[in-house]
Amino acid sequence: MVTVAALLLMLGAQAEPAAAARKAGASPQGPLSELFGAGRPKLRGALLPVSIPLPKPRPADAPAAGPETPAAGNQAPAGSDQPAAEAAPAPPSACRLALSEEIAIAPSIPDIHGAGGCGGEDLVRLEAVVLPDKHLVAVKPAAILRCAMASAVADWIRTDMAPLGLSLGSVISDLDNFDSFECRGRNRVVGARLSEHGRANALDVRAVRLANGQSISLTDRTVSRGLRESVLHSVCARFSTVLGPGSDWYHEDHIHLDLMERHNNYKICQWNVWDPLPPIAPLLPAERPDEAPPREVAVKSDAVKPDAAKPDAAKSDTTEPDAGGTMPSTKKRR
Ligand SMILES: [Zn+2]
Repeated sequence: MVTVAALLLMLGAQAEPAAAARKAGASPQGPLSELFGAGRPKLRGALLPVSIPLPKPRPADAPAAGPETPAAGNQAPAGSDQPAAEAAPAPPSACRLALSEEIAIAPSIPDIHGAGGCGGEDLVRLEAVVLPDKHLVAVKPAAILRCAMASAVADWIRTDMAPLGLSLGSVISDLDNFDSFECRGRNRVVGARLSEHGRANALDVRAVRLANGQSISLTDRTVSRGLRESVLHSVCARFSTVLGPGSDWYHEDHIHLDLMERHNNYKICQWNVWDPLPPIAPLLPAERPDEAPPREVAVKSDAVKPDAAKPDAAKSDTTEPDAGGTMPSTKKRR
């Protein structure tokens, strides 16, 4: 039945051009149509005898769609089932659905499948967090993160950091993104295990800015200790890894946050909130000039033992910078 119907349709479809061709051939306007279709005359000749007895199946109109539909229905599922399944985009994840525009401006981006396990799926570009009062906290620059990590960051900003900003008499306006997705080993060590940054599962935060222009560096010793401790408790309750000053030599100037999954939900929270003023460094220059007597001794000893004095001076010169260098100066980053 189907093939018969299809055949009839084909013939019917050809019958019209054939009829039209007949008219065209009869009329003397031929030149143009002849020029356009050089092959038509042959077809016309072949079809004419066949098409004449077939004006009946002329169902090119809508009604004819009736018998067509089963044919189309039979063919479409067989041929189009698999392509349709492949072409259909994956349904949005629960995380994606939850991370609505009321929570964050975080458009989805294509999955990344890089070398060495780098990349991830269900990725977003976190551009801003939307506070409950509709204020935007811009993430600068926008962070490439897995949806779950972006969602955790958004929740942290909305729930914990926004009230903190209000307690300071302003509103949080910016989150200083020091690093998000980056295909690399831990701490940028070549050959080291893949960092959670390489899995788009980590964010390095250096500071938070307020609408009044104030910038709060999370690792700045001069920032209120209480404020930094409240941030510490906040992030350690939310993220599975928190690394800051005192954790290693790579996190003295920013806070690393990630959602790495470990056995038994083991968490790492390593962030020493340093006291505002380290006691050792300021004392060093104030030691000597108080007492005069040592100078005479020094002069004598210089006169008597010039050779011995020099090594001493050399020692003190080398020890001071060392002491100063090991304490606060850590210029390695991440
Ligand atoms: Zn990091």
